[in-house]
Amino acid sequence: MTQPVYDRIALIGLGLIASSMAHAIRRGNLAGEITGYARSEATRETARRINLCDRISDTAADAVEDADLVVLCVPVGAMGPVMEEIAPKLKPGATVSDVGSVKRHVIEAVQPHIPQGVHFVPAHPLAGTEHSGPEAGFAELYDNRWCLLVPVEGTDPDAVERLRTLWEGMGANVDEMDADHHDLVLAVTSHAPHLIAYTMVGVADDLRRVTDSEVIKYSAAGFRDFTRIAASDPIMWRDVFLTNKDATLEILGRFTEELFALQRAIRTGDGEHLHDYFTRTRAIRRGIIEAGQDTAAPNFGRGTKS
Ligand code: NAP
Repeated sequence: MTQPVYDRIALIGLGLIASSMAHAIRRGNLAGEITGYARSEATRETARRINLCDRISDTAADAVEDADLVVLCVPVGAMGPVMEEIAPKLKPGATVSDVGSVKRHVIEAVQPHIPQGVHFVPAHPLAGTEHSGPEAGFAELYDNRWCLLVPVEGTDPDAVERLRTLWEGMGANVDEMDADHHDLVLAVTSHAPHLIAYTMVGVADDLRRVTDSEVIKYSAAGFRDFTRIAASDPIMWRDVFLTNKDATLEILGRFTEELFALQRAIRTGDGEHLHDYFTRTRAIRRGIIEAGQDTAAPNFGRGTKS
């Protein structure tokens, strides 16, 4: 049996991301012990009932005591206050990490509270479903997905390597990236697409009142995919847009320009423009499948575990 990567890992926040980590850590025997904390009694009770961790604490400070790795798995806007609360209880030499979908904001909110002698290695697993809570997690969530580590300047390389070993043990491919670059890449690949999905479903919902639920009844694949994305947790996504404002607005500006160009092509009957555009976008889809980040199955490979 392999040696655990950390003796004790504390997961703060017990939603989809943390519960999937708990399952994957157990699957790989990556920790001697996992402790957990969630804000509400109801979530803590559920976590106890399903035996998610070895111990569920009633306070965050209690959960992090003696932990070698503490992972903040709360919405991005809650990272700073949670870090402030746990700071006095952290063991010297421990590492604090997070899984937030935005990195510059998390670094600015968390780093000022990191005590002397504690390492801070921000991270972001690029994996998820539209489901939330401690029962949504599953061990395979990170298999063959990317986890981006975003170490700040001066971070102990050993702390970064150890965290890399943990994520690799959970099945992920690991890369390192600068925080601002991370936020721009994610604005293109995740944040703006989510906002567009939310908008499209909102438009259809308005229309539904006119068409008397035909939008739902005859919903075709395109719209169904949008609804899946737009079912994602409202608090998480509110925080993402509030904290990755500049990059998201930059991408939405470009999106609006492209949309106007396509609108003009439709109005003027410019079929060549439309055909060329759709040919180019189709190649991107092929690239994603070739990179192993999705499947060509008709349900986009999401039929089983979401
Ligand atoms: P989730 O399922 O909604 O769980 C969030 C957890 O955070 C819950 O345990 C919740 O506790 C706790 N929490 C919420 N607000 C809090 C507060 N103000 N103070 C303390 N605890 C609080 O969320 P998730 O999907 O696991 O996301 C967690 C983090 O992962 C977020 O930062 C998100 O950006 C990031 N992330 C998400 C995805 C995704 O697709 N879902 C992917 C990658 C990264 P209660 O249950 O007690 O309210």
